[in-house]
Amino acid sequence: MTDAFNLDGRVAVVTGGGRGIGRAIALELAAAGAAVVPTARTSEEVEAVAAEIEDADGTAIAATADVTDRDAVSAVIERTEAELGGIDIVVNNAGFNPDDALGRPEDVSTESLGDVLAVNLEGAFEVTTAAAESLFESGGGAVINVASVGGLVGLPRQHPYVASKHGLVGLTKSMALDWAPEVRVNAVAPGYVSTALTEDLEANERLRQSILDRTPLERFATPEEIAGPVVFLASDAASYVTGECLAADGGWTAR
Ligand code: NAP
Repeated sequence: MTDAFNLDGRVAVVTGGGRGIGRAIALELAAAGAAVVPTARTSEEVEAVAAEIEDADGTAIAATADVTDRDAVSAVIERTEAELGGIDIVVNNAGFNPDDALGRPEDVSTESLGDVLAVNLEGAFEVTTAAAESLFESGGGAVINVASVGGLVGLPRQHPYVASKHGLVGLTKSMALDWAPEVRVNAVAPGYVSTALTEDLEANERLRQSILDRTPLERFATPEEIAGPVVFLASDAASYVTGECLAADGGWTAR
C-alpha cells in the first residue's frame, strides 16, 4: 500500500458497522490505520467488530444507535469527538430493504416507503450533518455513502429501496458541491453482495441465476470487495475525487 492509502491518525464512523458490508468496511479502514467507530442497533455485533479491530492492535469504540434516532446519533458523534478527538471519515452504510417494501408500486404502502427513506436516506443525512463540524476541522474530511446499483438504474419491485438509493446518490452530489473544498463527499454503488440482506435471493436458484446472468463478473461480491473502494475514497489517493458514485458491481451497470 502506498502512503496515499494510509489512514493513520484518521477517525472513522461507520454506520451499519456490525455485520455484512459495514463490518468489512470497519475492518479495512482499521487495517489502513484509522481508529474506527462501528455503530448499529445490535450492540453485540458492533462490540464484536470493535473487539476484532482491537485484537489486531487497532483502535475502536463500539457504539449503539439507530440512525433514525437523532439523539442517539448525536450521542455517538459527541462520544467519538470526545474520546478520539474528532471525525475525519463518515461512512453511511446502514440500510435495509424489508419485505413489505417489495412489490409492484400499487402494492407498497406509503408508510413502507417512508420507513425505507428514513433509514437509507434521512439516516445518512442525519449522521453526516451531525458530524459536519468535525469533518470541516479535519483538513481531510471524507464522507462515503453506500448506495447501490439501485441508486443508478431502476430495479423492478424495489421501489422504496431504489428511491432511497437514487436519493442518496443525489445527496452525495449536492453535498459535494456545498462542502467543497474542505470535505469530499462520494458514494459507492455495490452490485449484489453476499450478506444477510441477500441471503434469500442467493437461496432462490432462479433469482440467483438471473443475477449472475446479468453480472459480467459472474458472481456476487464479497463484503471486502466493497470495502476496498470505500478505503480508496476515504484516503488521500482520492484527494481529487468528489461528488462521484463509484460502481462496484461486477460490471452490472456497464451493460
Ligand atoms: P446487512 O448485512 O443487513 O447489514 C446492515 C447493517 O445496517 C447492519 O449492521 C444493521 O445493524 C445496520 N442497520 C440497519 N438498519 C439500521 C438502523 N435503522 N440504524 C442503524 N443501523 C442499522 O446489509 P448489507 O448487505 O451489509 O448492506 C449494507 C449496505 O449496503 C446497505 O445500505 C445496503 O443497502 C447496501 N447494499 C447492499 C447490497 C448487497 O447486495 N448486500 C448491494 C447494494 C447495496 P442493526 O440491524 O443491528 O441495526
